[in-house]
Amino acid sequence: MSPSSFLSKQAADLKPSGIRRFFDVAAQMEDVISLGVGEPDFVTPWNFIEQSVHALEQGYTSYTENAGMLELRKEISRYLNENYQLFYDPDDQVIVSVGASQAIDLALRSIVDPGDEVIVIEPAFVAYTPTVKLAGGTPVAIHTKAEDGFKLQPEQLEEAITPHTKAVILCNPNNPTGTCLGKEELEDLAAVIEKHDLIVLSDEIYAKLTYDEAYTSFPSIEGMKERTILISGFSKAFAMTGWRLGYATGPVDIIKTMVKIHQYTMMCAPTMAQHAALEALKNGSQIVEDMMESYKQRRNFIVSSLNEIGLDCPNPGGAFYTFPSIQATGLTSAEFAEELLREEQVAVVPGDVFGSNGEGYIRCSYATSIKQLDEAMNRIKRFVENRI
Ligand code: PMP
Repeated sequence: MSPSSFLSKQAADLKPSGIRRFFDVAAQMEDVISLGVGEPDFVTPWNFIEQSVHALEQGYTSYTENAGMLELRKEISRYLNENYQLFYDPDDQVIVSVGASQAIDLALRSIVDPGDEVIVIEPAFVAYTPTVKLAGGTPVAIHTKAEDGFKLQPEQLEEAITPHTKAVILCNPNNPTGTCLGKEELEDLAAVIEKHDLIVLSDEIYAKLTYDEAYTSFPSIEGMKERTILISGFSKAFAMTGWRLGYATGPVDIIKTMVKIHQYTMMCAPTMAQHAALEALKNGSQIVEDMMESYKQRRNFIVSSLNEIGLDCPNPGGAFYTFPSIQATGLTSAEFAEELLREEQVAVVPGDVFGSNGEGYIRCSYATSIKQLDEAMNRIKRFVENRI
């Protein structure tokens, strides 16, 4: 009996993330500029760190309540109310999780039965399809189109719905395209969701990183709060990826069920990270604004550079990703990424890892300094010049 024969079929069939596989190679090379990982280049603001250290010094080293510290849940509730006019009861409509990643997992495991279909809108964040499968559901992909700016069209949603459809995962702003849907576009999707009585997982982890228009949170659309699990976290806008802290809010019965699973599988999110998050929500808004301004400048720089180079790149409304077309080079996205890494030591992510309609595109993160971005653009220019 070999150890691999003990693996469950479900787990054995999962493919490793296309992003990680690629970056393990990059990590072993020298002088690599990474536009690859979806991670802020900022260190967590000092006052967040200080509050965490302070809490540890005071002896806050035990578990918190399963759903997270009540004080933090109250702050999350206040924050959502203040920013998006959404009220969630901190007692039973908010759960603090180990990153948004765990909130997605808990949400899916709380609502999916075997045979239920969950719609994933591709190009999509790489975790959605595997977590739907691990929850026992069947992922159903919708492919948004470049000519629609990779925005999901209500007709596409309508077409993908079957009698087995239970849920839709929305990601706004989107990873990897940076596309941001506005209020009217969300209202059109909400009408289809209401008509077919579906539930929505709305992943809004990049909500604070939106650059051009006022942001609309999906549950704030009329009739949607009762059928939406809002997922968010501290990793991106607050530059806290390593702290592993996220949250979900939603209807009482669903959040209670998520807490039930959480209580058996995780107990609670890390206590010291919860203290840092409390400070982030209480006193972090100016720092977040400043980081957002910096991302906006970088976005403007990278978008104009990529277009000058000849890689067609629309202006993304949010997150910290661009999704330029590499079709002019005649290379596949995997070839482009591999050859660019080998020849010019710039790491980007091939678009097809986010869904087959991502073929012909690459994801470039601009969560890196303008100096690094500038050098990366020089290298990409040299690489592309030989091929267009
Ligand atoms: N959702 C999206 C869309 C993401 O891009 C990411 C991180 N790349 C996550 C969720 C997970 O974030 P966290 O670090 O909070 O688990």
